Amino acid sequence: MSSYYVTTTIPYVNARPHLGFALELVQADVLARHRRTRGGAVRFLSGTDENSLKNVLAAENEGVDVQDLVDRNAAAFAELAAPLALSFDDFIRTSRDPRHRIGVEYLWRRCAEAGDFYRKEYVGLYCVGCEAFFAESELTEDGRCPDHGTEPQQVSEENWFFRLSRYQEQLRELITSGRLRIEPESRRNEVLALIDSGLRDFSVSRSRARARGWGIPVPGDEEQVVYVWWDALGNYVTSLGLGGSDTDAEPYRTWWAGDGERVHLVGKGVLRFHAVYWPAMLLSAGLPLPTRVLVHDYLTVSGRKISKSAAAGAGSGAGSASAVDPAALVSRFGTDAVRWWLLREVPRVGDADFTEERLIARADADLAGGFGNLVHRVVTMVHRYRDGVVPTATVSTTATSELRAVCARAAGRVDAALDAFDYRAAAGAVWTLVEEANRCIDRTRPWELAKAERGAADPRLDAALAALVAACREVGEQLRPFLPDAADRIVVRCTPVDGRLPESEPLFARLGG
Ligand SMILES: [Zn+2]
Repeated sequence: MSSYYVTTTIPYVNARPHLGFALELVQADVLARHRRTRGGAVRFLSGTDENSLKNVLAAENEGVDVQDLVDRNAAAFAELAAPLALSFDDFIRTSRDPRHRIGVEYLWRRCAEAGDFYRKEYVGLYCVGCEAFFAESELTEDGRCPDHGTEPQQVSEENWFFRLSRYQEQLRELITSGRLRIEPESRRNEVLALIDSGLRDFSVSRSRARARGWGIPVPGDEEQVVYVWWDALGNYVTSLGLGGSDTDAEPYRTWWAGDGERVHLVGKGVLRFHAVYWPAMLLSAGLPLPTRVLVHDYLTVSGRKISKSAAAGAGSGAGSASAVDPAALVSRFGTDAVRWWLLREVPRVGDADFTEERLIARADADLAGGFGNLVHRVVTMVHRYRDGVVPTATVSTTATSELRAVCARAAGRVDAALDAFDYRAAAGAVWTLVEEANRCIDRTRPWELAKAERGAADPRLDAALAALVAACREVGEQLRPFLPDAADRIVVRCTPVDGRLPESEPLFARLGG
């Protein structure tokens, strides 16, 4: 199987992480874990975007050193690994990691050699919150940033520009031919429309003074700092050692320059950067492109947008009710409940609304009431009717053969749903196993078979119990990418020790009381 490299975007660290970003982390984690369970070579990267002017301003607001603020908040992102059960292999910090600056300088020089930079006097409207220039047509009627509701600054200075316009046709061809896949299709169409509207060259540096000296200096021009987006996008290859003293860095060759998949997970708000700017930078540098860009929508919390200002309230500390702290949520409800809500409830297309009530209801219905209840029933019956020994099936009935057929198809259904970037369908495919196993219990009625047994074991009861234990094991196996810890517990419950299944204990606590 070819290599599979999957990345999250790297968030700004001017504030602590919120639930919206946890969605992306968990989605990427599922893809990575899923490929590993299928025996593939996987690398999963996350990290933090630290060279932003926003961090400088947030630090000024708090009256602390920029590096201190960045270190503190970056740690909060890296530390999500334990509560969210994230399995990333690497975590890059763009202000600290020596690989990053070397790689960004290398990328810059490659684009410069391609003749894609030029200096130009620039006057524009700049939103610091977005770290992006806006055309007046892109602002609200009263001239504010549509995301931040703030008035952009007039900025006038000489910058380095990148010849994005040169790559318009090439990008269009790469996307329409499917060599660069952007999904879902509505997002692909959005990118094509953007390309067709005409790509303008964009500023890729700012004056050192305006950047307050924070960021990566432009190679050969110490008075300019590399535009934070240009620098941040590079993390997907700088973390692989691109441009290092070993220019033929092994990780880069394996994960980026080989024939494997290179998958970026991104939120809809940064689509343009990942589906237009980044591929153009790579084309300019003569490097391979990502193979897929998977775009997720956003979460709302109790009907309110997780606003960037709420999530990233510079120094506001208290934030707002709409900025849910994922680590705090896990400490109250557990990793399984939080991951399951994110995976089972968030649709492939469209925003999803988070409330604690929904998380609790979903966990109690599916985890305690579904997975937990099924495994408990089956293990209890094996103990009651067969003294804990999982019987061997010598016959099959319609009910047991149908259940085995559903189990045999489960992996394929999960594969197909995840390949279509549809977590809800993938989690639903595992859930189908629970429904079918419960249906098998209703149809075979093991308690009646057991009651009618006189001396000799009824092979139909053996067949039913064997198929049900196998189904529970399959639930555990297929659940691994989604709920790694719960999956382990389920498999343990269904695995005999010294010939007998362990006594049943609750797998999940009820959250709703
Ligand atoms: Zn903005």
